[in-house]
Amino acid sequence: MYAHKAWQTLKLEIPVDLAKVASRLGIIIHEKDFVDEIDGLYLRINGAPPIISINSSYKKPLMRRRFTLAHEIGHHLLGRRINPGNRLFFVDAGKTQRTLIERACNRFAAQLLMPEDLVKHHYNELCYNAGQRVAIMAERFGVSGWAMRRRLKEMGLEVSSFRR
Ligand SMILES: [Zn+2]
Repeated sequence: MYAHKAWQTLKLEIPVDLAKVASRLGIIIHEKDFVDEIDGLYLRINGAPPIISINSSYKKPLMRRRFTLAHEIGHHLLGRRINPGNRLFFVDAGKTQRTLIERACNRFAAQLLMPEDLVKHHYNELCYNAGQRVAIMAERFGVSGWAMRRRLKEMGLEVSSFRR
């Protein structure tokens, strides 16, 4: 729902300009190289702009950082509705993806970065190149191959394996 709204109001294109989405929401983004186990943080305190911090360590691939940023924007939007007026703070590490809210933020990130109609469009367009399809789509949408593969599966689209 939020992802769809962002696409409509901001006239987004792929790969989604996440900095534009964040700035439109008044969010400040910090990028900093910090401990490996952290991917990103979201912080909201009344009277100050919300902050997203992304671990820019070279060990975090760019596509993963993009997904983390989209996920943190999800915390902002979902948290706005759940808990207005309160402080909110989330730490995202590789192992904290299990709770309901974390899953909702991942779903938001997937929908923001890979909207269903566009995924279908590109999927069909690449029907004669099924072997390279996931890689090409990942590149076009600015996501990891893993994230694209998962998105296709959850949409019920067939993902070819890398058989030769
Ligand atoms: Zn999170």
